[in-house]
Amino acid sequence: MNIIFKGAATINFEQGRRGNKIDKIILHWIVGTLESADATFANPQRVASAHYGIGDGEVHQYVNDQDTAYHAGNFGVNLTSIGIEHEGGWEISPGVRMKPSDKTHETSGKLVAALSKKYNIPLTREHIKGHKEVSLSGTECPGTLDIDRIIKIAKTEGGDNQMGDIYKGYDLANKESMKVAVDILVRVQGGEFVDKAKFDELQQTITNLNGSINSKNTELLKLTDELSRKIEEIAKLNKEKETAEDQAKEVPTLRKFLEQCELDRKGFPSERESWNRARGQYEARIKELENNWFKAFIGFITRKGL
Ligand SMILES: [Zn+2]
Repeated sequence: MNIIFKGAATINFEQGRRGNKIDKIILHWIVGTLESADATFANPQRVASAHYGIGDGEVHQYVNDQDTAYHAGNFGVNLTSIGIEHEGGWEISPGVRMKPSDKTHETSGKLVAALSKKYNIPLTREHIKGHKEVSLSGTECPGTLDIDRIIKIAKTEGGDNQMGDIYKGYDLANKESMKVAVDILVRVQGGEFVDKAKFDELQQTITNLNGSINSKNTELLKLTDELSRKIEEIAKLNKEKETAEDQAKEVPTLRKFLEQCELDRKGFPSERESWNRARGQYEARIKELENNWFKAFIGFITRKGL
């Protein structure tokens, strides 16, 4: 936004704001053109000023934001507000006054949006007021200037989203972002932002997220435990299978030996009984080893898939 600094006679404003914070914007109509406002505020006889003046697309500045302009007819309001004048209000026929133009409203919406963002001024009728709503001496100003329309334009221009900006860009499910959000909450509590309802909403969101993160962490610990138990079980089954396979390698050797025994037995019929005993023992051992191997194998096949 292009703002032309015009300045004002030093008697028409006060330097500084006596330690007060800006928390509202007061809207006026000039009852004249923008040029007439330039002349009025430069005139040291008037002891009056505003911070800004708007005529269609043109914006003039007369007093710095950090200084107190004399515009509200209420010194307490002067100390805490920014005053904006709007071109219009002069008599075009008896009883009929010039309405501030569409373009003037549009430009005002943009300026109000910028000031709202800069000073965290909410775009509500509590904080954006017409001169007559605050004046102690009575006035018709700002006449037919449409304040609601200016607020609506300011909202579309991105003003009043000081809390919206906090939400933007922060993934609240992420731990680092949570830290940032909490830091912002601390700043909100310190009074850096003014929208209490949105602050409460953000705080509730964070409480909810903390709850769900805690329950997910508990679930994760449980699953991790279960996983390490399964890994141990599989390692044990592998070991059993290897042992059984090693033992099964004995089987062919034993068979060969048994065959030899059979042959020998045929050659020595008198020793049949002792050979039969020996054969019984070997056969039992072979069966045992085969059973062991089979059991381990079945165990491995069926339990590994757990
Ligand atoms: Zn006024």
